[in-house]
Amino acid sequence: MPTLPEKFERSRDFLIGVELVSTRGTVTETRAAKTVAFSRDLAQYPRADWVSITDNAGGNPMLAATALGGPFREAGREVVIHLSCKDFNRNALESEAWLLASEGFHNLLVLSGDYSGTGIGGGAKPVFDIDSVGLLTLLGRLNAGLDVTKAAAKQQVKLQPTHFFPGAVVTNFKLHENEVIPQLLKAERKIAAGARYFINQIGYDSRKISELAAWLQHRGHGRVPLVGNVYVLNPAVARAFRAQRIPGVVISDELAALCARQETSADKGKAFFLELAARQIAIYRGLGYRGAYLGGVHTVAEIERILELERSFAPGDWRQFAREIRYSRPGEFFAFAEDPASGLADPARVHPDYAASLTARRPTANVTYSYRVSKLVHGLMFTEHRGLWDLGARLCRGAKDPMQGPPLMRAAEHAGKRLMFGCKDCGDCSLPDIAFLCPESACAKNQRNGPCGGTRDGKCEVDDFECIWARAYDRLKYEGREQELLAHAPVIQDQRLRGTSSWANTWLGRDHLAKKTPPAVT
Ligand code: SF4
Repeated sequence: MPTLPEKFERSRDFLIGVELVSTRGTVTETRAAKTVAFSRDLAQYPRADWVSITDNAGGNPMLAATALGGPFREAGREVVIHLSCKDFNRNALESEAWLLASEGFHNLLVLSGDYSGTGIGGGAKPVFDIDSVGLLTLLGRLNAGLDVTKAAAKQQVKLQPTHFFPGAVVTNFKLHENEVIPQLLKAERKIAAGARYFINQIGYDSRKISELAAWLQHRGHGRVPLVGNVYVLNPAVARAFRAQRIPGVVISDELAALCARQETSADKGKAFFLELAARQIAIYRGLGYRGAYLGGVHTVAEIERILELERSFAPGDWRQFAREIRYSRPGEFFAFAEDPASGLADPARVHPDYAASLTARRPTANVTYSYRVSKLVHGLMFTEHRGLWDLGARLCRGAKDPMQGPPLMRAAEHAGKRLMFGCKDCGDCSLPDIAFLCPESACAKNQRNGPCGGTRDGKCEVDDFECIWARAYDRLKYEGREQELLAHAPVIQDQRLRGTSSWANTWLGRDHLAKKTPPAVT
Protein backbone atom coordinates (compact mmCIF):
# COMPACT_ATOMS: atom_id res chain seq x y z
CA MET A 1 0.00 0.00 0.00
CA PRO A 2 1.49 3.41 -0.89
CA THR A 3 2.06 5.73 2.02
CA LEU A 4 0.46 9.15 2.19
CA PRO A 5 3.66 10.95 1.04
CA GLU A 6 3.86 8.53 -1.90
CA LYS A 7 0.23 9.15 -2.77
CA PHE A 8 0.81 12.90 -2.76
CA GLU A 9 4.20 12.97 -4.36
CA ARG A 10 4.30 10.02 -6.72
CA SER A 11 0.77 9.71 -8.05
CA ARG A 12 -1.61 12.12 -9.73
CA ASP A 13 -4.68 10.50 -8.16
CA PHE A 14 -7.34 12.70 -6.63
CA LEU A 15 -7.22 11.69 -2.97
CA ILE A 16 -9.97 11.43 -0.38
CA GLY A 17 -9.32 12.09 3.30
CA VAL A 18 -11.98 11.61 5.97
CA GLU A 19 -12.07 13.43 9.29
CA LEU A 20 -12.81 11.44 12.42
CA VAL A 21 -13.69 13.53 15.47
CA SER A 22 -12.70 11.97 18.76
CA THR A 23 -15.14 11.81 21.69
CA ARG A 24 -14.81 12.37 25.43
CA GLY A 25 -14.26 9.23 27.51
CA THR A 26 -12.81 5.85 26.68
CA VAL A 27 -13.58 3.87 23.54
CA THR A 28 -15.94 1.68 25.59
CA GLU A 29 -18.29 4.57 26.43
CA THR A 30 -21.76 4.29 24.92
CA ARG A 31 -21.33 7.72 23.32
CA ALA A 32 -18.19 6.47 21.56
CA ALA A 33 -20.03 3.54 19.98
CA LYS A 34 -20.94 5.45 16.80
CA THR A 35 -17.40 6.77 16.37
CA VAL A 36 -15.90 3.33 16.96
CA ALA A 37 -18.33 1.72 14.48
CA PHE A 38 -17.54 4.43 11.91
CA SER A 39 -13.81 3.98 12.35
CA ARG A 40 -14.16 0.19 12.04
CA ASP A 41 -16.02 0.65 8.74
CA LEU A 42 -13.55 3.27 7.54
CA ALA A 43 -10.62 0.93 8.20
CA GLN A 44 -12.14 -1.43 5.61
CA TYR A 45 -13.22 1.26 3.17
CA PRO A 46 -10.78 1.37 0.27
CA ARG A 47 -11.90 4.70 -1.18
CA ALA A 48 -10.61 6.66 1.80
CA ASP A 49 -6.92 7.38 1.16
CA TRP A 50 -6.45 8.45 4.74
CA VAL A 51 -8.31 9.08 7.95
CA SER A 52 -7.54 12.24 9.88
CA ILE A 53 -8.15 12.27 13.63
CA THR A 54 -8.75 15.50 15.54
CA ASP A 55 -6.87 16.75 18.61
CA ASN A 56 -9.23 18.05 21.32
CA ALA A 57 -11.48 19.65 18.70
CA GLY A 58 -12.97 22.97 19.72
CA GLY A 59 -10.45 23.15 22.56
CA ASN A 60 -12.34 20.52 24.58
CA PRO A 61 -10.84 17.40 26.16
CA MET A 62 -11.33 14.26 24.09
CA LEU A 63 -9.88 10.79 23.81
CA ALA A 64 -6.35 11.06 22.35
CA ALA A 65 -6.22 10.64 18.57
CA THR A 66 -3.80 7.71 18.80
CA ALA A 67 -6.43 5.58 20.56
CA LEU A 68 -8.64 5.78 17.48
CA GLY A 69 -5.67 5.73 15.09
CA GLY A 70 -4.24 2.40 16.30
CA PRO A 71 -6.72 0.11 14.53
CA PHE A 72 -6.20 1.97 11.22
CA ARG A 73 -2.45 1.65 11.46
CA GLU A 74 -2.78 -2.06 12.30
CA ALA A 75 -5.03 -2.51 9.24
CA GLY A 76 -2.28 -0.93 7.12
CA ARG A 77 -4.28 2.23 6.47
CA GLU A 78 -2.89 5.76 6.35
CA VAL A 79 -3.72 7.87 9.40
CA VAL A 80 -3.12 11.57 9.97
CA ILE A 81 -2.90 12.66 13.60
CA HIS A 82 -3.74 16.28 14.32
CA LEU A 83 -1.20 17.95 16.57
CA SER A 84 -1.91 21.40 17.95
CA CYS A 85 -0.16 23.82 20.28
CA LYS A 86 -3.04 24.70 22.60
CA ASP A 87 -2.51 22.03 25.26
CA PHE A 88 1.19 21.18 24.98
CA ASN A 89 4.31 23.24 25.42
CA ARG A 90 7.29 22.65 23.11
CA ASN A 91 8.72 19.89 25.32
CA ALA A 92 5.42 18.05 25.56
CA LEU A 93 5.01 18.42 21.78
CA GLU A 94 8.48 17.00 21.22
CA SER A 95 7.75 14.17 23.61
CA GLU A 96 4.43 13.51 21.80
CA ALA A 97 6.31 13.53 18.50
CA TRP A 98 8.72 10.86 19.78
CA LEU A 99 5.75 8.78 20.93
CA LEU A 100 4.00 9.14 17.57
CA ALA A 101 7.15 8.27 15.65
CA SER A 102 7.77 5.24 17.89
CA GLU A 103 4.22 4.01 17.35
CA GLY A 104 4.39 4.43 13.58
CA PHE A 105 2.26 7.57 13.18
CA HIS A 106 4.27 9.65 10.74
CA ASN A 107 1.53 11.74 9.11
CA LEU A 108 0.63 14.82 11.12
CA LEU A 109 -1.63 17.80 10.59
CA VAL A 110 0.02 20.71 12.36
CA LEU A 111 -2.14 23.46 13.83
CA SER A 112 -1.87 26.30 16.30
CA GLY A 113 -5.25 25.10 17.54
CA ASP A 114 -8.49 26.50 18.89
CA TYR A 115 -8.42 28.50 22.08
CA SER A 116 -8.71 26.14 25.04
CA GLY A 117 -12.23 25.34 26.14
CA THR A 118 -13.72 24.00 29.35
CA GLY A 119 -12.35 21.06 31.31
CA ILE A 120 -12.68 19.79 34.86
CA GLY A 121 -13.34 22.72 37.22
CA GLY A 122 -13.71 25.37 34.50
CA GLY A 123 -11.77 26.84 31.61
CA ALA A 124 -8.37 25.33 30.82
CA LYS A 125 -5.22 27.44 30.67
CA PRO A 126 -4.16 27.70 27.04
CA VAL A 127 -0.51 26.93 26.36
CA PHE A 128 0.57 28.32 22.96
CA ASP A 129 4.23 28.11 23.94
CA ILE A 130 4.94 27.78 20.22
CA ASP A 131 2.63 28.07 17.21
CA SER A 132 2.08 26.10 14.02
CA VAL A 133 5.19 27.59 12.36
CA GLY A 134 7.24 26.78 15.47
CA LEU A 135 5.86 23.23 15.57
CA LEU A 136 6.63 22.69 11.88
CA THR A 137 10.16 23.93 12.60
CA LEU A 138 10.45 21.53 15.54
CA LEU A 139 9.33 18.58 13.39
CA GLY A 140 11.79 19.63 10.66
CA ARG A 141 14.58 19.50 13.24
CA LEU A 142 13.49 16.02 14.35
CA ASN A 143 13.34 14.88 10.70
CA ALA A 144 16.88 16.12 10.20
CA GLY A 145 18.11 14.22 13.27
CA LEU A 146 18.04 16.43 16.33
CA ASP A 147 21.37 17.63 17.66
CA VAL A 148 21.47 17.30 21.44
CA THR A 149 24.29 17.99 23.83
CA LYS A 150 25.29 15.51 26.48
CA ALA A 151 26.13 18.06 29.16
CA ALA A 152 28.37 15.77 31.22
CA ALA A 153 30.52 14.67 28.33
CA LYS A 154 30.20 18.05 26.53
CA GLN A 155 29.49 15.93 23.51
CA GLN A 156 27.16 16.69 20.60
CA VAL A 157 24.88 13.76 19.75
CA LYS A 158 22.64 13.46 16.73
CA LEU A 159 19.42 11.55 17.33
CA GLN A 160 17.97 9.22 14.71
CA PRO A 161 15.95 11.19 12.17
CA THR A 162 12.17 10.87 12.26
CA HIS A 163 10.07 10.58 9.11
CA PHE A 164 7.21 12.92 9.75
CA PHE A 165 5.09 14.07 6.83
CA PRO A 166 3.52 17.27 8.16
CA GLY A 167 0.55 18.97 6.58
CA ALA A 168 -0.86 22.34 7.58
CA VAL A 169 -4.05 24.36 7.36
CA VAL A 170 -4.63 27.57 5.44
CA THR A 171 -7.55 29.85 6.24
CA ASN A 172 -8.71 31.48 3.04
CA PHE A 173 -12.25 32.70 3.69
CA LYS A 174 -11.58 35.96 5.51
CA LEU A 175 -13.45 39.21 5.02
CA HIS A 176 -10.87 42.00 5.06
CA GLU A 177 -7.65 42.51 3.15
CA ASN A 178 -5.69 42.79 6.40
CA GLU A 179 -6.87 39.29 7.31
CA VAL A 180 -6.70 37.60 3.88
CA ILE A 181 -3.17 38.61 2.83
CA PRO A 182 -1.57 37.80 6.22
CA GLN A 183 -3.19 34.35 6.06
CA LEU A 184 -1.71 33.78 2.60
CA LEU A 185 1.70 35.04 3.73
CA LYS A 186 1.52 32.73 6.72
CA ALA A 187 0.84 29.78 4.41
CA GLU A 188 4.14 30.64 2.73
CA ARG A 189 5.91 30.69 6.10
CA LYS A 190 4.47 27.25 6.80
CA ILE A 191 5.87 25.98 3.51
CA ALA A 192 9.28 27.41 4.42
CA ALA A 193 9.00 25.70 7.83
CA GLY A 194 8.27 22.31 6.27
CA ALA A 195 4.52 21.99 5.46
CA ARG A 196 4.21 19.38 2.70
CA TYR A 197 0.54 19.95 1.82
CA PHE A 198 -2.37 22.17 2.84
CA ILE A 199 -5.97 21.64 3.78
CA ASN A 200 -8.00 24.81 3.54
CA GLN A 201 -10.50 26.00 6.14
CA ILE A 202 -14.16 25.04 5.81
CA GLY A 203 -15.87 27.43 3.39
CA TYR A 204 -18.40 27.70 0.61
CA ASP A 205 -17.02 30.18 -1.89
CA SER A 206 -15.48 28.81 -5.09
CA ARG A 207 -13.93 32.14 -5.96
CA LYS A 208 -11.92 32.19 -2.74
CA ILE A 209 -11.00 28.54 -3.32
CA SER A 210 -9.68 29.35 -6.79
CA GLU A 211 -7.91 32.41 -5.39
CA LEU A 212 -5.92 30.31 -2.91
CA ALA A 213 -4.62 28.07 -5.72
CA ALA A 214 -3.91 31.13 -7.88
CA TRP A 215 -1.98 32.87 -5.06
CA LEU A 216 0.26 29.89 -4.35
CA GLN A 217 0.89 29.38 -8.08
CA HIS A 218 1.64 33.07 -8.54
CA ARG A 219 4.12 33.03 -5.61
CA GLY A 220 6.00 29.99 -6.89
CA HIS A 221 4.40 27.42 -4.57
CA GLY A 222 2.25 25.68 -7.17
CA ARG A 223 3.95 22.35 -6.41
CA VAL A 224 2.55 22.22 -2.86
CA PRO A 225 -0.52 19.95 -2.90
CA LEU A 226 -3.81 21.54 -1.88
CA VAL A 227 -6.62 19.50 -0.39
CA GLY A 228 -10.11 21.00 -0.42
CA ASN A 229 -12.16 21.00 2.76
CA VAL A 230 -15.68 19.67 2.22
CA TYR A 231 -17.74 19.87 5.36
CA VAL A 232 -21.14 18.25 4.92
CA LEU A 233 -23.66 20.68 6.35
CA ASN A 234 -26.94 20.01 8.08
CA PRO A 235 -29.26 22.70 9.49
CA ALA A 236 -27.89 22.46 13.05
CA VAL A 237 -24.26 22.66 11.92
CA ALA A 238 -25.11 25.56 9.61
CA ARG A 239 -26.58 27.43 12.59
CA ALA A 240 -23.46 26.73 14.66
CA PHE A 241 -21.19 27.95 11.84
CA ARG A 242 -23.45 30.94 11.35
CA ALA A 243 -23.08 31.85 15.02
CA GLN A 244 -19.29 31.62 14.42
CA ARG A 245 -18.97 28.94 17.07
CA ILE A 246 -16.13 27.39 15.11
CA PRO A 247 -13.42 30.06 14.86
CA GLY A 248 -12.69 31.02 11.28
CA VAL A 249 -15.73 29.30 9.75
CA VAL A 250 -18.37 31.59 8.26
CA ILE A 251 -21.74 31.12 6.60
CA SER A 252 -23.04 34.03 4.51
CA ASP A 253 -26.61 35.36 4.82
CA GLU A 254 -27.49 33.76 1.48
CA LEU A 255 -26.18 30.32 2.44
CA ALA A 256 -27.82 30.57 5.88
CA ALA A 257 -31.17 31.31 4.22
CA LEU A 258 -30.71 28.38 1.85
CA CYS A 259 -29.92 26.04 4.77
CA ALA A 260 -33.00 27.29 6.65
CA ARG A 261 -35.18 26.57 3.60
CA GLN A 262 -33.74 23.07 3.32
CA GLU A 263 -34.61 22.40 6.95
CA THR A 264 -38.30 22.56 6.03
CA SER A 265 -38.00 19.77 3.44
CA ALA A 266 -39.10 16.20 4.23
CA ASP A 267 -35.52 14.90 4.73
CA LYS A 268 -34.37 18.13 6.46
CA GLY A 269 -32.11 18.82 3.49
CA LYS A 270 -30.10 15.60 3.78
CA ALA A 271 -30.08 14.84 0.03
CA PHE A 272 -29.39 18.49 -0.78
CA PHE A 273 -26.39 18.72 1.55
CA LEU A 274 -24.89 15.47 0.28
CA GLU A 275 -25.19 16.77 -3.28
CA LEU A 276 -23.67 20.10 -2.24
CA ALA A 277 -20.67 18.19 -0.88
CA ALA A 278 -20.37 16.18 -4.12
CA ARG A 279 -20.43 19.42 -6.10
CA GLN A 280 -17.72 20.92 -3.90
CA ILE A 281 -15.52 17.88 -4.55
CA ALA A 282 -16.09 18.29 -8.29
CA ILE A 283 -15.04 21.96 -8.02
CA TYR A 284 -11.85 21.13 -6.13
CA ARG A 285 -11.02 18.44 -8.66
CA GLY A 286 -11.72 20.84 -11.55
CA LEU A 287 -9.52 23.52 -9.99
CA GLY A 288 -6.56 21.17 -9.76
CA TYR A 289 -6.63 20.49 -6.01
CA ARG A 290 -5.00 17.16 -5.17
CA GLY A 291 -7.85 15.85 -3.10
CA ALA A 292 -10.82 16.49 -0.84
CA TYR A 293 -11.07 16.32 2.92
CA LEU A 294 -14.50 15.18 4.05
CA GLY A 295 -15.76 16.35 7.43
CA GLY A 296 -19.22 16.20 9.01
CA VAL A 297 -19.75 12.63 7.76
CA HIS A 298 -20.66 9.87 10.19
CA THR A 299 -21.12 6.74 8.09
CA VAL A 300 -19.39 5.11 5.16
CA ALA A 301 -22.78 5.06 3.39
CA GLU A 302 -22.83 8.88 3.42
CA ILE A 303 -19.32 9.04 1.96
CA GLU A 304 -20.21 6.45 -0.66
CA ARG A 305 -23.30 8.43 -1.66
CA ILE A 306 -21.31 11.67 -2.01
CA LEU A 307 -18.61 10.00 -4.11
CA GLU A 308 -21.21 8.23 -6.23
CA LEU A 309 -22.91 11.56 -6.93
CA GLU A 310 -19.59 13.13 -7.82
CA ARG A 311 -18.86 10.31 -10.26
CA SER A 312 -22.22 10.89 -11.95
CA PHE A 313 -21.32 14.46 -12.98
CA ALA A 314 -20.07 15.22 -16.49
CA PRO A 315 -16.43 16.41 -16.68
CA GLY A 316 -17.28 20.09 -17.23
CA ASP A 317 -20.18 20.31 -14.74
CA TRP A 318 -17.90 21.67 -12.03
CA ARG A 319 -17.75 25.03 -13.82
CA GLN A 320 -21.47 25.53 -13.39
CA PHE A 321 -21.29 24.36 -9.76
CA ALA A 322 -18.45 26.81 -9.15
CA ARG A 323 -20.64 29.63 -10.44
CA GLU A 324 -23.41 28.60 -8.07
CA ILE A 325 -21.40 27.92 -4.91
CA ARG A 326 -20.05 31.40 -4.31
CA TYR A 327 -21.30 32.35 -0.90
CA SER A 328 -19.06 35.29 -0.16
CA ARG A 329 -20.12 38.16 2.04
CA PRO A 330 -20.83 41.75 0.98
CA GLY A 331 -17.62 43.78 0.80
CA GLU A 332 -15.38 40.69 0.92
CA PHE A 333 -11.80 41.25 -0.19
CA PHE A 334 -10.39 39.47 -3.22
CA ALA A 335 -6.76 39.72 -4.31
CA PHE A 336 -7.46 38.72 -7.89
CA ALA A 337 -10.03 40.11 -10.29
CA GLU A 338 -13.04 38.01 -11.17
CA ASP A 339 -12.88 36.17 -14.46
CA PRO A 340 -16.28 37.09 -15.96
CA ALA A 341 -16.43 33.85 -17.95
CA SER A 342 -16.06 31.56 -14.93
CA GLY A 343 -16.83 33.77 -11.91
CA LEU A 344 -13.52 32.54 -10.43
CA ALA A 345 -10.21 34.26 -9.69
CA ASP A 346 -8.37 35.45 -12.77
CA PRO A 347 -4.73 34.72 -11.89
CA ALA A 348 -3.53 37.14 -14.55
CA ARG A 349 -5.27 40.21 -13.06
CA VAL A 350 -5.01 41.77 -9.61
CA HIS A 351 -8.38 42.96 -8.32
CA PRO A 352 -8.75 46.61 -9.43
CA ASP A 353 -9.57 47.86 -5.89
CA TYR A 354 -6.58 46.04 -4.45
CA ALA A 355 -4.35 47.33 -7.28
CA ALA A 356 -5.56 50.90 -6.62
CA SER A 357 -4.82 50.54 -2.90
CA LEU A 358 -1.26 49.55 -3.73
CA THR A 359 -0.60 52.66 -5.77
CA ALA A 360 -2.32 55.17 -3.48
CA ARG A 361 -1.36 53.98 0.00
CA ARG A 362 -3.38 55.68 2.70
CA PRO A 363 -2.86 55.45 6.46
CA THR A 364 -5.64 53.71 8.37
CA ALA A 365 -6.38 54.38 12.05
CA ASN A 366 -3.80 51.71 12.82
CA VAL A 367 -0.94 53.88 11.59
CA THR A 368 -0.71 55.77 14.86
CA TYR A 369 1.77 58.39 16.06
CA SER A 370 2.86 56.01 18.75
CA TYR A 371 3.81 53.52 16.01
CA ARG A 372 5.82 56.12 14.13
CA VAL A 373 7.65 57.19 17.29
CA SER A 374 8.31 53.57 18.32
CA LYS A 375 9.81 52.86 14.92
CA LEU A 376 12.06 55.87 15.15
CA VAL A 377 13.25 55.14 18.67
CA HIS A 378 13.77 51.47 17.84
CA GLY A 379 15.89 52.40 14.82
CA LEU A 380 18.01 54.64 17.03
CA MET A 381 18.49 52.03 19.75
CA PHE A 382 18.57 48.72 17.93
CA THR A 383 20.22 49.15 14.55
CA GLU A 384 23.26 46.91 14.87
CA HIS A 385 26.38 48.94 15.72
CA ARG A 386 24.67 52.25 14.96
CA GLY A 387 23.05 54.91 17.15
CA LEU A 388 22.85 53.74 20.76
CA TRP A 389 23.58 50.06 20.05
CA ASP A 390 27.24 49.90 21.14
CA LEU A 391 26.67 52.12 24.18
CA GLY A 392 23.68 50.03 25.29
CA ALA A 393 25.62 46.79 24.83
CA ARG A 394 28.59 48.17 26.80
CA LEU A 395 26.39 49.35 29.69
CA CYS A 396 24.55 46.04 29.93
CA ARG A 397 27.69 43.96 29.69
CA GLY A 398 29.27 45.97 32.50
CA ALA A 399 26.18 45.96 34.74
CA LYS A 400 26.14 44.03 38.00
CA ASP A 401 23.47 41.78 36.49
CA PRO A 402 23.92 41.70 32.71
CA MET A 403 20.53 39.96 32.34
CA GLN A 404 18.86 43.08 33.74
CA GLY A 405 21.26 45.80 32.60
CA PRO A 406 21.81 49.00 34.64
CA PRO A 407 18.93 49.43 37.15
CA LEU A 408 17.91 52.89 35.91
CA MET A 409 17.78 51.76 32.31
CA ARG A 410 15.80 48.69 33.33
CA ALA A 411 13.29 50.83 35.22
CA ALA A 412 12.88 53.06 32.16
CA GLU A 413 12.42 50.03 29.89
CA HIS A 414 9.90 48.44 32.21
CA ALA A 415 7.80 51.57 32.72
CA GLY A 416 7.98 52.82 29.13
CA LYS A 417 7.13 49.50 27.46
CA ARG A 418 4.39 48.76 29.94
CA LEU A 419 2.77 52.11 29.27
CA MET A 420 3.10 52.02 25.50
CA PHE A 421 2.61 48.33 24.67
CA GLY A 422 1.19 46.68 27.80
CA CYS A 423 4.53 44.83 28.04
CA LYS A 424 4.46 41.63 30.12
CA ASP A 425 8.23 41.51 30.46
CA CYS A 426 8.74 38.30 28.49
CA GLY A 427 12.33 39.31 27.74
CA ASP A 428 12.28 37.98 24.14
CA CYS A 429 10.65 40.91 22.44
CA SER A 430 8.65 40.55 19.23
CA LEU A 431 7.66 44.22 18.94
CA PRO A 432 9.86 44.80 15.87
CA ASP A 433 8.37 41.67 14.22
CA ILE A 434 4.75 42.82 14.67
CA ALA A 435 4.94 46.53 13.85
CA PHE A 436 5.27 47.43 17.54
CA LEU A 437 2.34 45.44 18.86
CA CYS A 438 2.88 43.09 21.78
CA PRO A 439 1.81 39.46 21.28
CA GLU A 440 1.89 38.79 25.02
CA SER A 441 -0.58 41.50 26.00
CA ALA A 442 -2.69 41.82 22.83
CA CYS A 443 -2.86 38.32 21.32
CA ALA A 444 -4.85 35.65 23.15
CA LYS A 445 -2.68 32.92 21.61
CA ASN A 446 0.68 34.73 21.72
CA GLN A 447 1.07 34.25 17.95
CA ARG A 448 4.52 35.44 16.89
CA ASN A 449 4.70 34.05 13.37
CA GLY A 450 1.52 35.44 11.87
CA PRO A 451 -2.19 35.35 12.63
CA CYS A 452 -4.04 32.22 13.72
CA GLY A 453 -7.05 31.31 11.62
CA GLY A 454 -9.67 32.32 14.15
CA THR A 455 -10.33 36.01 13.53
CA ARG A 456 -13.93 37.08 13.16
CA ASP A 457 -14.17 39.94 10.65
CA GLY A 458 -10.79 41.24 11.77
CA LYS A 459 -11.39 40.77 15.49
CA CYS A 460 -9.68 38.29 17.77
CA GLU A 461 -11.67 35.06 18.23
CA VAL A 462 -11.29 35.37 22.01
CA ASP A 463 -11.30 39.07 22.85
CA ASP A 464 -13.22 41.91 21.32
CA PHE A 465 -10.29 43.78 19.79
CA GLU A 466 -8.73 43.96 16.36
CA CYS A 467 -6.17 41.25 15.61
CA ILE A 468 -2.62 42.54 16.09
CA TRP A 469 -1.60 41.01 12.75
CA ALA A 470 -4.33 42.92 10.92
CA ARG A 471 -3.14 46.11 12.60
CA ALA A 472 0.48 45.32 11.79
CA TYR A 473 -0.45 44.66 8.16
CA ASP A 474 -2.08 48.11 7.91
CA ARG A 475 1.04 49.75 9.32
CA LEU A 476 3.37 47.99 6.92
CA LYS A 477 1.09 48.45 3.96
CA TYR A 478 1.15 52.19 4.40
CA GLU A 479 4.93 51.98 4.09
CA GLY A 480 4.83 49.60 1.11
CA ARG A 481 6.32 46.80 3.23
CA GLU A 482 3.32 44.53 3.79
CA GLN A 483 4.93 41.64 1.90
CA GLU A 484 7.63 41.68 4.60
CA LEU A 485 5.06 41.14 7.37
CA LEU A 486 6.32 37.64 8.12
CA ALA A 487 9.73 37.81 6.49
CA HIS A 488 11.69 36.73 9.53
CA ALA A 489 13.07 33.42 10.72
CA PRO A 490 10.51 31.41 12.74
CA VAL A 491 10.20 33.01 16.16
CA ILE A 492 10.50 30.45 18.92
CA GLN A 493 10.39 32.47 22.08
CA ASP A 494 12.99 31.68 24.73
CA GLN A 495 11.08 31.34 28.01
CA ARG A 496 14.33 31.45 30.01
CA LEU A 497 14.45 35.19 29.28
CA ARG A 498 11.15 35.96 31.03
CA GLY A 499 11.56 38.74 33.59
CA THR A 500 14.88 39.88 32.15
CA SER A 501 15.66 43.01 30.14
CA SER A 502 14.61 42.62 26.50
CA TRP A 503 16.84 45.60 25.63
CA ALA A 504 19.88 43.89 27.15
CA ASN A 505 18.89 40.61 25.49
CA THR A 506 18.84 42.25 22.06
CA TRP A 507 22.07 44.18 22.54
CA LEU A 508 23.89 41.14 23.91
CA GLY A 509 22.49 38.74 21.28
CA ARG A 510 20.46 36.52 23.62
CA ASP A 511 16.98 36.81 22.07
CA HIS A 512 15.38 35.29 18.98
CA LEU A 513 16.46 38.24 16.84
CA ALA A 514 20.06 37.09 17.17
CA LYS A 515 19.48 33.36 16.98
CA LYS A 516 18.15 32.95 13.46
CA THR A 517 16.68 29.45 13.88
CA PRO A 518 18.02 27.15 11.16
CA PRO A 519 15.55 26.42 8.38
CA ALA A 520 13.62 23.15 8.46
CA VAL A 521 14.94 20.29 6.41
CA THR A 522 12.24 18.55 4.40
S1 SF4 B 1 9.17 42.18 25.82
FE1 SF4 B 1 7.60 40.60 25.40
S2 SF4 B 1 5.89 41.24 26.67
FE2 SF4 B 1 7.24 43.04 26.47
S3 SF4 B 1 6.49 44.19 24.67
FE3 SF4 B 1 8.06 42.78 23.93
S4 SF4 B 1 6.89 40.95 23.27
FE4 SF4 B 1 5.56 42.14 24.62
